Amino acid sequence: MTVHNSDINHSLEPFSGSCLCGSIKFEIHRKYLNAIHCYCGMCRKAHGTAFSTHALATPSQVQWTEGKSLLTGYESSPGAYREFCPVCGTHILVHGQSGDDSLAFPAGTINGNPALTILGHMYTDDLVSWYVINDNLPQHHQWPPGFGSNDD
Ligand SMILES: [Zn+2]
Ligand SMILES: [Zn+2]
Repeated sequence: MTVHNSDINHSLEPFSGSCLCGSIKFEIHRKYLNAIHCYCGMCRKAHGTAFSTHALATPSQVQWTEGKSLLTGYESSPGAYREFCPVCGTHILVHGQSGDDSLAFPAGTINGNPALTILGHMYTDDLVSWYVINDNLPQHHQWPPGFGSNDD
């Protein structure tokens, strides 16, 4: 089936999100919001938590509605960037790590209680002993290429 970009999601409410202080706001125009838990040591430091949850989108599904120019980047590994708000420090975007053009939004930046579809776990070799995975979703050693980000 061929889907033309102009046909995608026009009738649907987008998922919306922001940083803590509200200087940066975005919308994700997807029917479903897929997400992956990541246990890598960089996510652990960047978030200060045992794992981060990345909600995935393609660039054409994302609209920055406020403060895009404020985004401040840090290259956490070669070619992989973490963007944050310089006012409140919220980690709001990860890109370049997946081997394609996927954008990953730390799921806690999405407003309300979005119905995320959790697809699995990645970088599970780096999991700390003080957190235990207690579901049967797939576990991956690294970012599964093409995982979670598509046109739906
Ligand atoms: Zn902020
Ligand atoms: Zn990670």
